[in-house]
Amino acid sequence: MTRLAYKRVLLKVSGEVLMGSQPYGIDLDTVGRVADEVITCARSGAQVALVIGGGNIFRGVAGAAKGMERVSADHMGIMATVMNALAMQGVLVSKGMDARVLSAIAMPTVCETYSHAKGIHHLEAGRVVICTAGTGLPFFTTDTGAALRAAELKCDALLKGTSVDGVYSADPKKDPAARRYDRITFQQILSHDLRIMDPAAIALARDNGIPVVVFNIREAGAVEQVLQGKGRFTVVTKD
Ligand code: UDP
Repeated sequence: MTRLAYKRVLLKVSGEVLMGSQPYGIDLDTVGRVADEVITCARSGAQVALVIGGGNIFRGVAGAAKGMERVSADHMGIMATVMNALAMQGVLVSKGMDARVLSAIAMPTVCETYSHAKGIHHLEAGRVVICTAGTGLPFFTTDTGAALRAAELKCDALLKGTSVDGVYSADPKKDPAARRYDRITFQQILSHDLRIMDPAAIALARDNGIPVVVFNIREAGAVEQVLQGKGRFTVVTKD
C-alpha cells in the first residue's frame, strides 16, 4: 500500500469545479473525473470526506445583491450544495464506490442527516462521506462547513481543491509578479487577507491545528499526489 502523508482527509471542492467548461450547473463528465480521483485515494487506503460547494448553481450573496432576502437566498445556496452532493454520490456509486451523503439539514427521504458518529462510522467502514448543506445555517459558506467537518471528523488535513497550484501573494491570473508560497501560516493568510478561504474557515482550521493544503484540482491525479505529499501545493500551518 502507498505511504500516505495524510490518512483521513476532508476534500473541499468548490461548485465551480463541477461546471467543467460549462458556464453553469453540473457537468457529469467532470463529476466523473473528480469521482475517479476520490476513488483512487480511497482505494490507496485513505479515508475521504468530501464537502462540495454550490456556486455552480446558486450563491446566496448573488441573490441578495439582486434584492432577495438573504436568508432565503442562502437556503437556496444550501440546496444547491445538496444537488452537487447527490450528483457526486450517484456517480461514485455507479463506479462501484460506496458513498453516503450526510446533510446538515434533515431531509430523511433523500439522505442521512449529518452526525459526528455517522460520519466516523462510514469513514471507518471505507465509505466516502459527502458532508452537504454546509453548516446548515445562512451567512456561512461551504469553506467554513468544510473546516468544521474536518475538525469534527478529526481529519489529518483539509485539502482545498482550487484552480491554481497553491497560495499566491496576489491573483496569479491578473498579476504576473504574484509570489507563490510552498508553506505559509494561518496568521499570514489572515493578516495579508489572502482569500484562499473565508476568514472564519481559516480561523477554525488554525484553532484546531488542521493543516490546509491548497492545490489545483483541475490537474489529473492531483489529489492522489497531494495525499502522497508530492506535486505542487501550498501547505498552510500554525507555524
Ligand atoms: N451556504 C450557506 N451556509 C453554509 C454553506 C453554504 O448559506 O453553511 C450557501 C451560501 O448562499 C453560499 C452557497 O450556499 O453562497 C453556496 O456555497 P459556497 O458559496 O460556499 O459554494 P462554493 O463557492 O464553494 O461553490
